[in-house]
Amino acid sequence: MHTQNQFCSMAIMIILLYLFLRQKRVGLYTEKVFLRTLLVAMLCVSLDILSLIAIHYRADIPAPFLDLICKSYIMTLIWVSYTALTYVITDLYTEKEYYKKLRQIRPWTILGMIIVYCLPIYYHTDNNEIYTEGPAVLATYLFAISFIIATIYTMARYGSRITPKRRFAVITWMVLWFLTAAVQFLNNQLLLVGLGCGLGMMALYCTLENPENNINHAYGCFHQHVLVRYLQQCYERGLSKSVMFISFISERQQGINENYMDDCLRKLISWAKDNDSVKVFRGVERELAFVFSDMSEMSKAFTQIQEQFYYDQFYNQKSAKDGNNEEFPVSLFILFPDTLLLNDGNEVMSVRRAIYADNSNITSSFVCYANERLLEQIRNKKQVMSQIIQALEEDRVEVFYQPTYATKDKHFASAEALVRIREKDGTIIPPGQFIPIAEESGLISKLGERVFEKVCAFLKENNPEKLGIKYLEVNLSVIQCEQRNLSEHYLDIMKKYGIDPWYINLEITETGSVSSKNVLLSNMNRLIAEGVSFSLDDFGNGQSNLDYMIDMPVSIMKLDMNMTQSYFTDLKARFVVRATIQLAHELDLFVVAEGVETKEQLDEMIALGVDYIQGFYFSKPLPAKEYLKFLHTHGSPV
Ligand code: C2E
Ligand code: CA
Ligand code: CA
Repeated sequence: MHTQNQFCSMAIMIILLYLFLRQKRVGLYTEKVFLRTLLVAMLCVSLDILSLIAIHYRADIPAPFLDLICKSYIMTLIWVSYTALTYVITDLYTEKEYYKKLRQIRPWTILGMIIVYCLPIYYHTDNNEIYTEGPAVLATYLFAISFIIATIYTMARYGSRITPKRRFAVITWMVLWFLTAAVQFLNNQLLLVGLGCGLGMMALYCTLENPENNINHAYGCFHQHVLVRYLQQCYERGLSKSVMFISFISERQQGINENYMDDCLRKLISWAKDNDSVKVFRGVERELAFVFSDMSEMSKAFTQIQEQFYYDQFYNQKSAKDGNNEEFPVSLFILFPDTLLLNDGNEVMSVRRAIYADNSNITSSFVCYANERLLEQIRNKKQVMSQIIQALEEDRVEVFYQPTYATKDKHFASAEALVRIREKDGTIIPPGQFIPIAEESGLISKLGERVFEKVCAFLKENNPEKLGIKYLEVNLSVIQCEQRNLSEHYLDIMKKYGIDPWYINLEITETGSVSSKNVLLSNMNRLIAEGVSFSLDDFGNGQSNLDYMIDMPVSIMKLDMNMTQSYFTDLKARFVVRATIQLAHELDLFVVAEGVETKEQLDEMIALGVDYIQGFYFSKPLPAKEYLKFLHTHGSPV
């Protein structure tokens, strides 16, 4: 009787079970699936050994008992092949769907086992060979092979959705099984299937299920890559968790010793270790994620951490409770009160990235609450960004033109180009809904460039002289003005379309810093040298200063709509508007009044000496074709 291989396999699996149970585990359901698979494999090998012993001593054992042992063994072979199939599908479904699928496959397994139990089994022993045969064994092969084929089919069909690691592990398992079965089939004395089973489990453990892979030993916590899986699972189970990210802010890292930073990180982790209700995950850089069972646990922990480690900064006192007088590195706290507010487990990471990228949501004490309002804002931003990207890709960015009336010449001498996005269903999205997000995300450069190209293409197609247009006004975002290569880029575009720069007027607004003002100035000078002119947009909207009008080489000053309209409602504004127009004229600038909506406003502005009028009184911004029609009908002086 040869049972060495089976005992060897058992030993391997006992060691695996020990290692698996000994390690700290995150609590993923895939861990449970593995444990179940391992236990089934152990049962299979134990019954294998038992059946060999029983056959060996079959003269001393009652026949029904012998049948029961041997049939139980071959029944577990079906069970093991069924678990292989269930193992591959864990990546394909959510936890709920997974268990639903199991319920669909399980009856076949049970049916297989019942059939095996009902069919007769025969024993064969001569010399050193011991094996079973007969209909029950045949049925076992049939069912086991069907499950193995289903496993291979699933991997082939949905391979891309199964993680490569899982595919590799299951293929190794199947190959080991197949090879050992083939050897055993050819040489009945070599009972290798049991060993194949154990080695297969080892392959699964080493590639996939070693809990060590999830543990960051250097810090004694979990790796962040399992955080998403863990949260996803909680999400699917409808379990709410609260997550707190703590990350040392990098600018402040300067001056703080690297080792000290590391010590601080370890202190936070060891604080969490004393607290049973928290799971700690370590991210890249100096970031930790603490997962709590609920909001109140997180609030409690947050207060404790603040008091214990950040005492100095928050209370401005030099007496941290742990007796450490050194300052704890300033950290950003991102608090997710309820992970069920998220769309899935992955969103925690994308929201956290968005918060890092845009610090406007962070309070002065470096805390950010990822509450419903913020999540909505971040989702909206993401959606608008993909709307812009898609519109750019699918050429759904359009330019509308709002005619500008020249009061002296009494005709529509120019127009402002205003961007729109046309949705697939034809609806128009106004710039107010996407320009701020395009600016924040940097997409404005591409968008602005596209608008400029469209304007150049329009000028190329329609002879501006014939239309009576002196120039077209195109908006430049502050972000674009800060780019050093802007002027060369725009000159290239004009060259590409063969447009004389005289037909282009670029509208600028105030930029924040001195350095960006200098970049803007050099861009302006380069473009002005080629013939482009500039307007100072939105003058009087609260962000503009008189010195900008004086310093910058603009030839036109545009009165913001609010300023134009307040002229008619506010006595003080009247003086300001009058004085501004006078000053602009003294500086040799033309003045445009934006937002003129009524005949009364028009007359008043003309009386004030405004050179150009732009507003709904004459026209709203129009699509290119309608603008051409407009010029056609209003071609002669009004
Ligand atoms: P803006 O540059 O001040 O453009 C004038 C805005 O005032 C336009 O809104 C126009 O439709 C609106 N407007 C003009 N006359 C009247 C009026 O009589 N009454 C009222 N209620 N509104 C009037 P629009 O097209 O929605 O553009 C909004 C803003 O979006 C623009 O303000 C500009 O800051 C930005 N924008 C538009 N196109 C572009 C672009 O291509 N690039 C950049 N960077 N920004 C753009
Ligand atoms: Ca403008
Ligand atoms: Ca404006």
